[in-house]
Amino acid sequence: MNYRNLLVFAAFLTLACAPEPEITSAEVERVLSTLSADSMQGRDIFTPGIAMAEAFIQSEFADIGLETLDGLDSYAQRFPVYSLAAESQRVELNGRAVAEDRIAASVSQESIRWTSTDDVNVVVVGPDHDLREQFSSLRRQDGNSLVLVHDNHEQFFNNVRMFMSRPRYTLDLEGSNMVMILTRQTDVTSLTVEMDYARTTAELTNVVGVIPGRRSDEVVLFSAHHDHVGIGRPVDGDSIYNGANDDASGTTAVIALARYFKQLRQPERTLVFATFTAEERGGFGSQYLSRQMDPDQTVAMFNIEMIGKPGAENPNLIWITGFDETDFGEILQQGLVEDSGYTFGADPYPDQDLFYRSDNAAFARLGVPAHSISTTSMDSDEDYHQASDEIETLDIDHMTMTVKAIALGAMPIVSGEATPTRVNPSGLN
Ligand SMILES: [Zn+2]
Repeated sequence: MNYRNLLVFAAFLTLACAPEPEITSAEVERVLSTLSADSMQGRDIFTPGIAMAEAFIQSEFADIGLETLDGLDSYAQRFPVYSLAAESQRVELNGRAVAEDRIAASVSQESIRWTSTDDVNVVVVGPDHDLREQFSSLRRQDGNSLVLVHDNHEQFFNNVRMFMSRPRYTLDLEGSNMVMILTRQTDVTSLTVEMDYARTTAELTNVVGVIPGRRSDEVVLFSAHHDHVGIGRPVDGDSIYNGANDDASGTTAVIALARYFKQLRQPERTLVFATFTAEERGGFGSQYLSRQMDPDQTVAMFNIEMIGKPGAENPNLIWITGFDETDFGEILQQGLVEDSGYTFGADPYPDQDLFYRSDNAAFARLGVPAHSISTTSMDSDEDYHQASDEIETLDIDHMTMTVKAIALGAMPIVSGEATPTRVNPSGLN
């Protein structure tokens, strides 16, 4: 062997023996403890605490060496949301003015002018209908709806009215509008609705980093939400809702996965790492990012939520929401080496509709195989949205194992060997 060959051989040995990058519990604990510290004030939107969290995640992405998303010059993806405060409301139904306490409105426009039923979809909730059940589907209706609610439902109507009159934010000013009226009328012969709202604009921030793959037009998204519910009712003197499990644990996983994949050779597919704002306040962060990415180029979404605790019944199960909607879960099962002790499986709480309740939903509705991945017992977790959701209640070793399992399970998708089937959006409710 001549000297040159020896050099080549030495280089080969270095490559072949390069240690597999490790996801360590010390690293998981470092990131998790920072994100769930009291100084972050529970990471509610529009607070200095969430701004600190966003700055920390950006510094981690910079340290890892991620690139920025096309069109952005930093990891911060800032976008506006709007809040509308009622200024005036006038409703006339069949020639008679409707009293203010019989009107409940949920709107996304500064000005509403309906002059006949041609402008709206009229829905009648009769005395024997279940308003509670109808309400959730009504809220998802597109366009303009006028809902005539029978007097029998007065109590529930009043709750809805309270709920709808609280200040809320909206991502766009061309969304749907719903006006509910408490009345015994079921026919509409004439209609006038005039409502005006004052608009204020506020800014929210997602944090997004990229590892460009060899294929720039095939993207795998890893995500979690970095916001939580902030400061609330004190429990035993503690008013900071730290959200260590929900969802500092998922955010920590996204950072750990970015660090892991950055140490491997360039991936075949482009990897996007995103931490969302405002999951707890309407899912605006994921909705906004879903509009900035091409859903047809987004091959899969790993949305990681509450992996800080093993499940009570099956501690080695990592469950996936909407398991049967695509073959994403089966691909993860195949990618996971058998001796890890962990398995991927279906979400054990199908009645809770979790597939529709987290940040994956914005992408799933566009056809992306977008799933949330979790391990926490949703039926019995005492710390969920409580001041007690603190790092002390989490199992760091379990969390570390779960992040490793996700890394391994994702490998066939990252490497381009496997492509999950798409979600059929028309089948979603
Ligand atoms: Zn969450």
